Amino acid sequence: MKFCSLSSCSYANSIIVQDKNTCVLVDCGLRKRDLKPFLDKAGLSPGDIDAVLITHRHIDHVYGLKYFLKERDVPVYSSALILKQLLESISFRGHSRFCALRPDAEQNIGTLTVNPFRLSHDVETIGFTFSGDGEKMGFITDTGFVPGCCMQAFQSIDYLYIESNHDVEMYKHSAKPPQVIRRNLGSTGHLSNEQCGQALGSMGLSNCKLVVLGHLSEEDNEPRRAIANARQFLPPGTTLVSAPPRIPGIWSDQLLKKD
Ligand SMILES: [Zn+2]
Ligand SMILES: [Zn+2]
Repeated sequence: MKFCSLSSCSYANSIIVQDKNTCVLVDCGLRKRDLKPFLDKAGLSPGDIDAVLITHRHIDHVYGLKYFLKERDVPVYSSALILKQLLESISFRGHSRFCALRPDAEQNIGTLTVNPFRLSHDVETIGFTFSGDGEKMGFITDTGFVPGCCMQAFQSIDYLYIESNHDVEMYKHSAKPPQVIRRNLGSTGHLSNEQCGQALGSMGLSNCKLVVLGHLSEEDNEPRRAIANARQFLPPGTTLVSAPPRIPGIWSDQLLKKD
């Protein structure tokens, strides 16, 4: 299996995950004008996408969903509550193929096996493991801490996409209002570089080939800081990169070839 970030930051998040037969979009926070060009950069068109999975209802994860569904009418998967929240917002009314995923249970989307689990954010949020082509990927973003269930579930993964949102030191000089900083640092906010590193250390990740750090704050983090921090907690052979903000990154299989 392989994956590619289309955009990863506090402004817009969207990641493609695919095995040989199934291609899904995880979140669709892209602007309307970026949808086709960003997919094109990844070598895809809307017609290649089999389903959309949504982690939560924040705008940086769902802004472009209604535009994408106009291009390509595919099922949308998330927890029952998140789907209800999306359907209640006026722009999604009338769309019929919203499919509820049961947290903590394996479900198939095409040939991919998906196992969703609850995260700790200020709205209901889910993370995933994906299995396909005999490999497994962990996907975790927008959470105040990494839940214990992930530590176990992620021990055997081949690939990991994980939030490394902010640098706690940089927050001391941040232009953000104090209440926003308090929210982001709290147990229902975002993972700091430090928390991300600790989670990587606890997971062990002895089989993991590639770790991609995502959702980096453009104001209160720097890729080199996030990477230097995470590197300390990973086995030496693990490829480590940060996903670029506002533009598509490089497919995971190409990143591994480069390394
Ligand atoms: Zn977000
Ligand atoms: Zn969020």
